[in-house]
Amino acid sequence: MSIQLPTGTKDLLPDEAAFWDHFTDTAKRVFGCYGYQPVVTPLIEQTNLFVRGIGTATDVVSKEMFTAVSGENLKKLVAGEGIDEKDRLSLRPEGTAGVVRAVVQHNLVQQGSAPVKLMYAGPMFRAERPQKGRLRQFNQVGIECLGAEEPSIDAEGIIMLMRFYEEIGIPRESMVLLLNSMGCENCRPAYRDAVHAYLEQHVDELCDDCRRRMDINPLRAFDCKKEGCIRVMESAPRITDYLCDDCKAHHQAVKGYLDAAGIAYVEDYKLVRGLDYYTRTVFEVQATDSASAQSAIGGGGRYDKLAEEVGGKPTPGFGFALGFERCVIALEAAGATFTPPRACEVFVACVSDDERPTAFSLVQSLRAHGVKTDMSHQKRSLKSQFKLANKLNARYVVTLGPDEVAASAATLRNMDTHEEESVAFADMPARAAELVAAGE
Ligand code: AMP
Repeated sequence: MSIQLPTGTKDLLPDEAAFWDHFTDTAKRVFGCYGYQPVVTPLIEQTNLFVRGIGTATDVVSKEMFTAVSGENLKKLVAGEGIDEKDRLSLRPEGTAGVVRAVVQHNLVQQGSAPVKLMYAGPMFRAERPQKGRLRQFNQVGIECLGAEEPSIDAEGIIMLMRFYEEIGIPRESMVLLLNSMGCENCRPAYRDAVHAYLEQHVDELCDDCRRRMDINPLRAFDCKKEGCIRVMESAPRITDYLCDDCKAHHQAVKGYLDAAGIAYVEDYKLVRGLDYYTRTVFEVQATDSASAQSAIGGGGRYDKLAEEVGGKPTPGFGFALGFERCVIALEAAGATFTPPRACEVFVACVSDDERPTAFSLVQSLRAHGVKTDMSHQKRSLKSQFKLANKLNARYVVTLGPDEVAASAATLRNMDTHEEESVAFADMPARAAELVAAGE
């Protein structure tokens, strides 16, 4: 059998790749209105960044990271020798840690300056058990805002995300926004202890995973999908009863801004998200129409301690990431369609092989003018060249015979409207570019 793609990965074939381009272009346009600028960080980072930033008790770090080892280090490992901490690399499982690392390393947040607003788009890697909507390599678009602790930053981020979903075609009524606060280093310890004490009372009802991590991070039990744990967590202590005054005020303010913007949300005290770095605001957007079990199409929150975790100075932060493949499922469920741009605008056909050199140079000059142009490189009958033009969905066809070559002019035929216009070869590139730009 021929070699297949690795488990849990997916090819984006041309139509889907075109939609990915449209998706990221839309994100750049919408997020750009809010001041977000693109940043590109490596797909590999030091493993330690994720261990320290995301936390060892999370599934993402404890079981799902792909390790990357260079050839020479692999040899050392196989020989039982140790390798340098900085040579232990992992494929990024999410985007926030890398962006925060870059912000810290390049000192992008200066004292007293405006917050830095960055967006990214690209693949993430998690060795999860693949299923519909859950891949081992998937694409995310995300934003990070560093250097501002104000609740309006959280609110504008959430408003911006909901606007993006709508612009991309997911109807607002097909989504639910879940909102919670995780508290801060002042109020979370007491809450953690309360949940820990509660879990100890129910330890016999918990799964092995929850039992194992209840001492390291008891809040992870809220994330567990096992029925027994879900039942136990229904009656667990609620963070809302433990928030300090500052966290309460922050949460109230975020909700106030969302209310004023007409963004509906559901308060979900069980929402703790899968990564350890969150403080205060956390949220998730779920698609309600999709039959897929993986309904979370995006989520994020505030992470005021993460920059310090990775060795930077105290820098508050807020961010979110949304999953491209999950959005595609939600869009399919909503019946949304996407028409990819044409691959060919003008097709040049030849009556016989004699016109081929003229056709070849006409095609080059049209392309040089930015017009998507093609011809058949194989010897084909005129009929089969027209078939090819049809298959390529060419908007215009130019047919060259001996008369056209002699006159240095040919007919530009619009395949949709059947309108025809005779154009000299010299004028053809400019005229075709004009027609294409006007969408005629
Ligand atoms: P997270 O970084 O876990 O908050 O994920 C943010 C978003 O990325 C989720 O809401 C999903 O839409 C998407 N996502 C996370 N994990 C996967 C995965 N394994 N496969 C596909 N999409 C994912």
